[in-house]
Amino acid sequence: MTVTHILGYPRIGEKRELKFALEKYWKGESDQAALKQTASDIKQNNWDLQRDNELSFVTAGDFAWYDHVLGTSLLLGHVPKRHANGFPDLDTLFRVGRGQSQAHCGCSGEAASDMTKWFNTNYHYIVPEFSSQDSFQVSWTQLFDEINDAQQNNRSVKPVLLGPLSYLYLGKEVEEGFDRLTLLPRLLTAYQAILAKLEKLGVEWVQIEEPILALELPKPWLNSFKLAYQVIRSDVKVLLTTYFDSIAESLDVIKQLSVDGLHIDVAAAPEQLDVVVEQLPEEWVLSVGTINGRNVWRANLHSKLQQLQPLKQKLGERLWVATSCSLLHSPVDLELETKLPEGTKNWFSFAKQKVSEVQWLARALDGDENAKQYCAQYSQPIIERERSTWVNKPEVQKRVAALLQTNGDRSAPYVERTHHQKEILKLPLLPTTTIGSFPQTAEVRQTRAAYKRNDIEFSSYQTAMHAFIKDTVERQEATGLDVLVHGEAERNDMVEYFAENLSGFQTTQFGWVQSYGSRCVKPAIVVADIERDKPMTVEWSTYAQSLTSKPMKGMLTGPVTILCWTFPREDVTRETIANQLALALQDEVSDLQNAGINIIQIDEPAIREGLPLKQRDHKAYLDWAVKAFKVSAASAKPETQIHTHMCYSEFNEIIDSVAALDADVITIETSRSNMELLNAFEEFNYPNEIGPGVYDIHSPNIPTVEWIEQLIEKAAERIPVERLWVNPDCGLKTRNWEETEASLSNLVTAARNLRQKFS
Ligand code: GLN
Ligand code: ZN
Repeated sequence: MTVTHILGYPRIGEKRELKFALEKYWKGESDQAALKQTASDIKQNNWDLQRDNELSFVTAGDFAWYDHVLGTSLLLGHVPKRHANGFPDLDTLFRVGRGQSQAHCGCSGEAASDMTKWFNTNYHYIVPEFSSQDSFQVSWTQLFDEINDAQQNNRSVKPVLLGPLSYLYLGKEVEEGFDRLTLLPRLLTAYQAILAKLEKLGVEWVQIEEPILALELPKPWLNSFKLAYQVIRSDVKVLLTTYFDSIAESLDVIKQLSVDGLHIDVAAAPEQLDVVVEQLPEEWVLSVGTINGRNVWRANLHSKLQQLQPLKQKLGERLWVATSCSLLHSPVDLELETKLPEGTKNWFSFAKQKVSEVQWLARALDGDENAKQYCAQYSQPIIERERSTWVNKPEVQKRVAALLQTNGDRSAPYVERTHHQKEILKLPLLPTTTIGSFPQTAEVRQTRAAYKRNDIEFSSYQTAMHAFIKDTVERQEATGLDVLVHGEAERNDMVEYFAENLSGFQTTQFGWVQSYGSRCVKPAIVVADIERDKPMTVEWSTYAQSLTSKPMKGMLTGPVTILCWTFPREDVTRETIANQLALALQDEVSDLQNAGINIIQIDEPAIREGLPLKQRDHKAYLDWAVKAFKVSAASAKPETQIHTHMCYSEFNEIIDSVAALDADVITIETSRSNMELLNAFEEFNYPNEIGPGVYDIHSPNIPTVEWIEQLIEKAAERIPVERLWVNPDCGLKTRNWEETEASLSNLVTAARNLRQKFS
């Protein structure tokens, strides 16, 4: 019988039980026993589900209190010195992940470790910190306890372990001139100890994950694999697990490793399957990750069966069937959704459904006639979906096809546009503005929620929103800002708002996916060709403009960001989706400018994170991403000023693409890096206007006038002052009004002081 398994299951619980339990515990409203009970119920459910579906293995060790890299740090007893007091426990883990507040320790408070994105997903992990004195000691029994618990009711338990090289690679050095790879021998001793324990527990297979094998690894790293896997060899069989991209280039190295099988992701990189099969060592199993763990679509089991049958013939018992990656990246249970439109529910599959997809596919592969029939029937709705007129809109498709002939350029170059804009906008030197959102008070959120629940009608909702807008505009005028915004009170989230207002998206009730710690996101799903039926932001922006004689900045989310933060269709390319979004936004830009809005910001904070894992794929992505952005702005007249906004700090790699967007003004996050980030723009001779953030909105601290002034002066050393704007790092939705007004007032004062100096 074909062996089946999943790489991991969501740990947040069907209705985000873990989130609520964690937050309660953090607030001091519950104790560890209650928190641990919630976690243990979730794990038990997850194991029962896998057992009931008759998977060959039940996966353990995939649970995490915060994220699984931080969990690995605890397992290895590897905690930053500032957080290590005595034997690491659950509170140690939370301190590393969240920092220690002053109130708690009665000291100055110790900072959390950095957090960063897990490869190209929206899940994040706490970055391990390495220095030369580090030691590793298996000191956290959670993994072994979990295996024990899982073994109570299940025959075969397969633990998951993040591999030693990936663990090292994903961390960072915190000591000058130190190379973390030199820690490998010490680390391997700890892994030996872990594997010895697994052996004692009677574990037959362990899933050791080395996702970094899908990157373009530096030679010394790749060359370290062989010895590492020799050193940790034990009687426990190792399934070397990779995902998110192809490992074909590294096969020469991989083939030589002392492991017993290989897992590859054929949802992300189907092209690697043939090469891998051809070169697979004879005694290895091949776990084929065919059920996509990162998207919400029902699998076409019928076509997968056709594809895998010859492979089954060839590999026999050595073929395993699996999800492409951990299901932690999919929502939990489709059955909870009660509001999906008629006839669309059977297009989707969440984690729970994917477990059964794995099992049905394997049964069909083993020749079970019932299962074959089931696979054929099961695939019918999605095959029909691809042809449905509800999904395919000829008008949209025609427009996208025509788009491919254009270059998306504005009607005049920047040097010309800037003259027209100066005439119309009459802005001072160093104009001040904000990034869009203003504090989302409880009142704002309650009003939105009431409208969503249908507790209030649109007219009362609109009246309430107008009141928020008016208040926001008045406060900005009082502060003395030059370019105002309406404040985004109507938006719960910068992507969800557009997904709800465009046709072609489906939102869910419970489609939550973990982002970091207790935080979850609920991405919308692109289900059909995307169209704008009606203006989406014009009413709010024109109302706001009617209240002031200062320029009001319209506020849109860019095509690439909407794409990156939603679940895409799989029957068209990401480029196509981006182009459809771009055209919808282009119409919104037209309507805004026709309604008298002279400045329009198109936010693209996600453009960098959409980069493919491999360098060689970057150019193709950036080409279409840049074009999609340009297309959204292409309807702007020369006198309409287009802004864009990006909030992160690594621009070097993409600076030419950022310039190619040809936005009249770009606002970026720079305050924390002390303007160093501007070096990239200076070296590149960035031609248009820039607003380097001078107020770190992530912190409650109020920046002083002097602090802001020195930042602006630093910026002016790098960028001609005529092309500089003064603004915060990002939107202000998470701040309160008091901090916001005090900070912005300092920002305006600083800009005014420097205007005198520079003119
Ligand atoms: N306009 C958005 C805001 O101000 C931008 C948010 C972001 O960059 N993530 O909230
Ligand atoms: Zn931002």
